[in-house]
Amino acid sequence: MDFPTSIKTCFSKYVDFKGVASRSEYWYFALFNALASILISTLSQSLGSLFSIGVLLPSIAVGVRRMHDRNLSGWWILLPVFNLVQSCMTTVPTSRWSSGTFSASGQGRTCPNGHPVPDHSDNYCPSCGAPLSQ
Ligand SMILES: [Zn+2]
Repeated sequence: MDFPTSIKTCFSKYVDFKGVASRSEYWYFALFNALASILISTLSQSLGSLFSIGVLLPSIAVGVRRMHDRNLSGWWILLPVFNLVQSCMTTVPTSRWSSGTFSASGQGRTCPNGHPVPDHSDNYCPSCGAPLSQ
């Protein structure tokens, strides 16, 4: 699929979340969005915002159709959002992959029961709730 056909297809399937999209369809539309967004934002900030809102739904739709082409559920396009939310969490549950300590010095505090306590925890151990001595 060539560039103009890709743009036409994505706008004609504005909210079509069914079916599939080829790689070229997806990436030409992404390229179009990036270039048009830069161009329009240079002319006018508010027009740029309007353009971004306008292409939001077709961008999601072509992303979902692209996932279908890979035999994945369309929900997979939310993976980056999930990762962003995870990375914004201040408290990470202690697991066998994490020590639960996040101090820059690498020397985290521990509660009276020996649980590692992140530096930003206040007065109680996040694992067992034991009060911490300061
Ligand atoms: Zn504890």
